[in-house]
Amino acid sequence: MYLRSVNSLEMSSLGKSLPDPLSNVEVKYTKIFINNEWHDSVSGKKFATFNPATGEKICDIEEGDKEDVEKAVKAARAAFEFGSPWRRMDASERGKLLNKLADLIERDIIALSTMETIDAGKPFFTSYMFDIPGAVKSLRYCAGWADKNQGRTVPTDGDYFTFTRHEPVGVCGQIIPWNFPIVMFAWKIAPALCCGNTVVIKPAEQTPLTALYMGSLIKEAGFPPGVVNIVPGYGPTAGAAISNHMDVDKVAFTGSTEVGKLIKQAAGKSNLKRVTLELGGKSPLIIFADADINAAVECAHHALFYHQGQCCIAASRLFVEESIYDDFVKKSVELAKKRVLGDPLKPGTQQGPQIDKEQYDRILDLIESGKKEGAKLECGGGPWGDKGFFIQPTVFSDVKDNMRIAKEEIFGPVQQIMKFKTLDEVIKRANNTTYGLAAGLFTKDVDKAIVVSSALQAGSVWINCYSALSPQAPFGGFKMSGNGREMGEYGIHEYTEVKTVTLKISQKNS
Ligand code: NAP
Ligand code: MG
Repeated sequence: MYLRSVNSLEMSSLGKSLPDPLSNVEVKYTKIFINNEWHDSVSGKKFATFNPATGEKICDIEEGDKEDVEKAVKAARAAFEFGSPWRRMDASERGKLLNKLADLIERDIIALSTMETIDAGKPFFTSYMFDIPGAVKSLRYCAGWADKNQGRTVPTDGDYFTFTRHEPVGVCGQIIPWNFPIVMFAWKIAPALCCGNTVVIKPAEQTPLTALYMGSLIKEAGFPPGVVNIVPGYGPTAGAAISNHMDVDKVAFTGSTEVGKLIKQAAGKSNLKRVTLELGGKSPLIIFADADINAAVECAHHALFYHQGQCCIAASRLFVEESIYDDFVKKSVELAKKRVLGDPLKPGTQQGPQIDKEQYDRILDLIESGKKEGAKLECGGGPWGDKGFFIQPTVFSDVKDNMRIAKEEIFGPVQQIMKFKTLDEVIKRANNTTYGLAAGLFTKDVDKAIVVSSALQAGSVWINCYSALSPQAPFGGFKMSGNGREMGEYGIHEYTEVKTVTLKISQKNS
């Protein structure tokens, strides 16, 4: 439930005392993690990771490339060999290891929260209250599954006894983005490991620090060497080496739709590895006139502005019924103007910087397109501060469906408010997108809630709430927002191969 109570927590944490972040984070882990050891890159190259709040370099990281991925895949394959310590380990022991890893994260929560904040620009309270606890919950959820992912017996025709085994898929390549570094790390490794797979994971180039720290905790928890290998590096090199590899059995990717297509192509061109994709979105949130307007305004605000708008599920198309439209816009603007920007390490800061210059420029360009295409700029609309990549909370009203800001994923603090008149109209408009990750609606009418939630083409639909993610619930996209599901029981199946075993019975039962 890491985002479920974000509205109230974000507000109540203003001025509330949290533990202090570490004043001086010592970054100990900057190398490539293979076989539970730290390696220099084969090429000798390194890359820098920056603090987006200041633009300053934090440290250099060993830059993994094809040769390093090769080493990591070999280690993961050896760890997966039939009869290896990992394959022979009791399923319940795998669960224990995952719980141990969760314990170690809890022990080091302040260090991890501080690191996540300086590397990803997240306000400290969100790292501390949502991201790190979210990673822990995901690990514990999957730990519980380790000895429960069971097959069936099957009533086959003839003199046979047939049963299914749920086996691990093998070596899993995992490529993750920068917006939720430790949460995505946990969402990827936890289901893979509970099912008995081995992993080669590449964190995003912008945010490698918590992933590498996790390497040290994985070793400390007692996972056998080679079970988890972490290769920091760039997408077109290290990432592509994973998705093209002939000895990687599955790739799980979270990021842009554009790169998601490349991953699927690479799988098709190489060994037809299994692919799961969690991609972008342009998610609609529909506010009907009968809704509790204050609750809807506040929820819509957090559904968009949380983590500077850098969420795949950001509710970036807000459809508001005509009769409450003006009031809704007015209240939304008041809330956006109250947002506290600043140093993400400081208590009370609600909004930190965008992740990097590339994203910052892209968002500012989309804001300019909104102004040019005739949307009404209600507040914000430009950069904020004199260092780092901050953008003013921005609200556009009178947004039309064909404008770029209504069609493209902005991934920034920019809210689009559109007007609608009828239920049929709003369903058509909400679904008129190539994406289908998430959607929401606010109404007090149960019939309407059920009809609209059935009609919306999205992997998650929230009614009178938004972003209510939870490790028990499957998450993923319709249409071009992805393939497959993560977390929940459906997410466990994505890391399982089903084997049908049939035994001839020689003596027929009389
Ligand atoms: P991205 O390029 O898709 O990055 C996601 C991950 O894929 C990173 O680890 C990246 O490595 C890797 N990657 C990039 N090119 C690759 C390739 N050819 N083969 C294999 N892996 C590759 O996303 P981005 O450039 O950081 O952000 C661009 C846009 O993507 C955003 O504006 C947003 O719209 C969307 N996005 C969505 C999500 C989400 O949660 N669904 C998250 C992040 C971004 P690098 O670190 O080198 O990039
Ligand atoms: Mg990129």
